[in-house]
Amino acid sequence: MFETLSDRLTSVFSSLRAKGRLSDADIDATCREIRIALLEADVALPVVRAFVAHVKERARGSEVSQALNPAQQVVKIVNDELIEILGGETRRLRLAKTPPTIIMLAGLQGAGKTTLAGKLARWLREQGHAPMLVAADLQRPNAVQQLAVVGERAEVAVFAPEPGNGVGDPIDVARRSIDHAKRQQHDVVIIDTAGRLGIDQELMRQAADIRDAVRPDEILFVVDAMIGQDAVTTAQAFMEGVGFDGVVLTKLDGDARGGAALSVRHITGKPIMFASTGEKLGDFDAFHPDRMASRILDMGDVLTLIEQAQKTFDEEQAKKMAGKLTSGDGFTLDDFLEQMAMVQKMGPIKNLLGMMPGMGQMRDQLNQIDDRDLDRIAAIIRSMTPGERAEPKIINGSRRARIARGSGVSVTEVSSLVTRFFDAQKMMKRMAGGLGIPGMPGSGG
Ligand code: GDP
Repeated sequence: MFETLSDRLTSVFSSLRAKGRLSDADIDATCREIRIALLEADVALPVVRAFVAHVKERARGSEVSQALNPAQQVVKIVNDELIEILGGETRRLRLAKTPPTIIMLAGLQGAGKTTLAGKLARWLREQGHAPMLVAADLQRPNAVQQLAVVGERAEVAVFAPEPGNGVGDPIDVARRSIDHAKRQQHDVVIIDTAGRLGIDQELMRQAADIRDAVRPDEILFVVDAMIGQDAVTTAQAFMEGVGFDGVVLTKLDGDARGGAALSVRHITGKPIMFASTGEKLGDFDAFHPDRMASRILDMGDVLTLIEQAQKTFDEEQAKKMAGKLTSGDGFTLDDFLEQMAMVQKMGPIKNLLGMMPGMGQMRDQLNQIDDRDLDRIAAIIRSMTPGERAEPKIINGSRRARIARGSGVSVTEVSSLVTRFFDAQKMMKRMAGGLGIPGMPGSGG
């Protein structure tokens, strides 16, 4: 997501890097480039205008810090403005003082509401809540069934009308679900409503009726980021027809341009609260404007990376591994295997590496990373004896040939793995002082 914008902006900044001081003409030229970058990323025109005007005003003003060079100053201003346009502070879910908290989902058909209902429910469950999903989409055949499947996968309860009773009344279902949730001690209720392919009055009226019947604590407008500029018009229509408190962007994995994300907040005045980045239940997270800005400017998203690591690894495991990593000596091929399995649990390697600062320029190489390569490495290590894994120095020519036969790879691949392992061991010893994280673009690091 945001690749186009990210590439354009980083190239704007790198052309500034050589300059000692920015003239007004430099600032104008830079702002023109930023404007083109935003328009290419499909950001709505009023948003582009406001954004560029702010950047220009601040770049010309004397507020700029003496500690930063001109390119860094512009990066800082653009970063601040991106955060601003994405909503400033992270907007967290508001829980009701007296449970259940009622969350209602609204949006067009295909926006990803049902999928999102499951993701949100699982996310809440992981935080110790007892959510319940409600199938108030009774229009679309299979919608109830789909929600039941999603609920099962997310391991949360689903409230749905009995099948076979004809088409039920969604407003009645929604109302009854609240009483049911209270009786069953569910503290969050997520209501999935019907969507239509396009905006129509009937759809809006039904959503408004459900809203009036259950009086939700949060109405979330779910919108597919891939529909580009249409996201803005749809958001406006839902704003007028139903009203909402926050926005959820879905399918951010598919949209390289990301203009919707950068426009919706500014146009509707409502914060983006969550982002969906895939079809799996785990492809979902709270939306943090500052982290997103940092990703767009290729400054990495180390915080999200750390959070994912914390979610995946237990503390004991992490401490044990950290000890071995920093000493370098105790690190064996078995540890290597274990570590690889741990990393793979966090998700595709290229997504993880993509969150590191400066990785934007290496996107082509990242896209070539195939997680199956890791499976091959694992197969090689598994073909080694415990002695070989603990003491890779003993792996001589004939052992290499045996390992290659056992794992179905060439001897060269085995040799290259052993060599890389020794290199990694050396590097760990060197890094024992701490992890070096490259600085912001322009810092020369
Ligand atoms: P609804 O009609 O609004 O309930 O939409 P669905 O939840 O049924 O989603 C429509 C389609 O989009 C399904 O095929 C989902 O698997 C897919 N989908 C939902 N969220 C995402 C996402 O974040 N990324 C991708 N790539 N696909 C998604």
